[in-house]
Amino acid sequence: MAISRILIANRGEIALRVHRAAHEMGIETVAVHSTADADAMHVRLADQAVCIGPPSATDSYLNMAAIISAAEISGADAIHPGYGFLSENAKFAEIVEAHGLKWIGPKPEHIRTMGDKVAAKKSAGDLGLPLVPGSDGAVSDYDEARKIAAEIGYPVIIKAASGGGGRGMKVCEAEESLETLMKQAGSEAKSAFGDATVYIEKYLGNPRHIEFQIFGDGEGTAIHLGERDCSLQRRHQKVLEEAPSPVISADERARMGKVCADAMAAMGYRGAGTIEFLWEGGEFYFIEMNTRLQVEHPVTEAITGVDLVREQIRIADGKPLSVTQDELRFTGHAIECRINAENPFTFAPSPGEVKNYHAAGGMHVRVDSGLYAGYRIPPYYDSMIAKLIVYGRTREGCIMRLKRALEEMVIEGVHTSIPLHQELIRQTDFLNGDYTIKWLEEWLAERD
Ligand code: ADP
Repeated sequence: MAISRILIANRGEIALRVHRAAHEMGIETVAVHSTADADAMHVRLADQAVCIGPPSATDSYLNMAAIISAAEISGADAIHPGYGFLSENAKFAEIVEAHGLKWIGPKPEHIRTMGDKVAAKKSAGDLGLPLVPGSDGAVSDYDEARKIAAEIGYPVIIKAASGGGGRGMKVCEAEESLETLMKQAGSEAKSAFGDATVYIEKYLGNPRHIEFQIFGDGEGTAIHLGERDCSLQRRHQKVLEEAPSPVISADERARMGKVCADAMAAMGYRGAGTIEFLWEGGEFYFIEMNTRLQVEHPVTEAITGVDLVREQIRIADGKPLSVTQDELRFTGHAIECRINAENPFTFAPSPGEVKNYHAAGGMHVRVDSGLYAGYRIPPYYDSMIAKLIVYGRTREGCIMRLKRALEEMVIEGVHTSIPLHQELIRQTDFLNGDYTIKWLEEWLAERD
């Protein structure tokens, strides 16, 4: 039976994003929400809504039993997890499938493998993806660690196998501090992730973050949809993303994209995924794979014309991908600004009531947001409240349009990161596409 009613196990702009794709396909939606989100836009627009718990995410958006019950009560036949929350929880994916519901996401075993960084790196290496030089799996013995570090050369980075969100990493400059830092990394990882396993890799000094969007049908066919450059980051959090990357040529895109797509085809990967690389000196180095839709997926949609959520739903429904690699064309340039409810330069959170709201519009301007005038941004969740995505035939044209669109956005009553973006996109280095993952923090430090 084809999917006819999707429960969206998420909130905010991504819940709306999934709702929109579903309704365009003639599929009904069920929103779930915490008590803090009763007035949220995703709840208003969905065909049905079920309250699944109190504000704390642990008791609501992460509450598997409540979500499964909501699916049963509402008669949903599929679950879309969005990003964050339960989207990369292999156990949840298994539970969903065990209840006879369709999981709009990758096979649970692939979520599990890629969620363990040591296993992910091994499997990426076996599949032919280029790796950051480092230990062959987990390291616990200090003599072995010193040997490996000496071989790859300092500085090295000690990373937690179960790490995530930029946490559980220590940069080690010299052999003297290796043992101490490994102990620290291990105990921090143990308390944060319940797993003390660490591994070692070469620390790249000044790379870019470039990731490839891939899609598989689960039957051995996979395609790539080009790359996104997400180097503009603060504390390992992406701030602005663009596609294509200003430094990747069409030949390089085709070559590396094929390496990624072939790897996914060999794995029998199903659904959307993102393969993240650090890029330095013209070389790609695999760091991790995200087995879900990414926040920044709209820049890929803008330059390919493919609705990625629609493809996810089609694949979960057992249908083939709607495009082949040969049919895909990369046209023009797209940039996404993440707009957070926070002070643009101190980054202090700024939840509260939105007094006035007006979204930018016009040709090639997209705003994904659940905001409206009178909405109260709750303090319990991620501070991202909107995404502004702008397209242009050229990067220059895209930036001109982005300046205009940022001027038009009105969000009153709370602080937002709009002024940060306005200043950022006027910087010469940005205009030249000349930046790495260190650039934004250095610029912010100099600005003070
Ligand atoms: P997480 O899952 O915690 O996000 P990642 O492995 O994706 O961890 O790494 C997050 C960020 O940490 C990268 O975007 C990069 O900025 C930095 N990083 C990770 N590995 C290295 C490395 N080998 N060399 C330099 N920086 C690194």
